[in-house]
Amino acid sequence: MSTPQQQKERREYLIARNRCVFCDKQDAYTLIGKRLCADCSQKQKEYSIEWRKKNKERLRERKREVYKERSESGKCVKCGRKLDREGRKTCSRCANLQRKVDEKKVVNKNRGSNGLCWTCNKVPHEPGEKLCKACHDKIARVAIENQKYINREEHIWRKSEHERVLETLARSSLQAEK
Ligand SMILES: [Zn+2]
Ligand SMILES: [Zn+2]
Ligand SMILES: [Zn+2]
Repeated sequence: MSTPQQQKERREYLIARNRCVFCDKQDAYTLIGKRLCADCSQKQKEYSIEWRKKNKERLRERKREVYKERSESGKCVKCGRKLDREGRKTCSRCANLQRKVDEKKVVNKNRGSNGLCWTCNKVPHEPGEKLCKACHDKIARVAIENQKYINREEHIWRKSEHERVLETLARSSLQAEK
């Protein structure tokens, strides 16, 4: 069994190499900077929906309390800081943040379903792939670059890393030949 310190190291190691912190897999999700792969994200989403469902009443109650408390004392209902805008319930900082979140949501919602590359969201992705050729190559390059800094002796899970990159390379050169 691994200690919390080892778990932390493993997590950091996987994040730095764009791998899922849960199952060690690499896919378009982890390559765009998410900590979990598509499968694990899905599982976690289901789990959190389940949890929310179970705690719905309690959560709603708590939220209502906080909202009331903050709104009555002239604080931002989101962060609890002093309000800097007249006649609003949220501060300008939270409003900006929310706007960005909303914009990102739209982008994420359309990601992949519009036939565009998951990373740049501009170029159509390769058939059967989630990334366009340019992004795929860019990521492959970063992966090779990362290899140089890996001390394979230090962690057991690093041993297979080199083989995986070689596999990725083989695959991308096969695609280039097509
Ligand atoms: Zn995963
Ligand atoms: Zn705020
Ligand atoms: Zn792309």
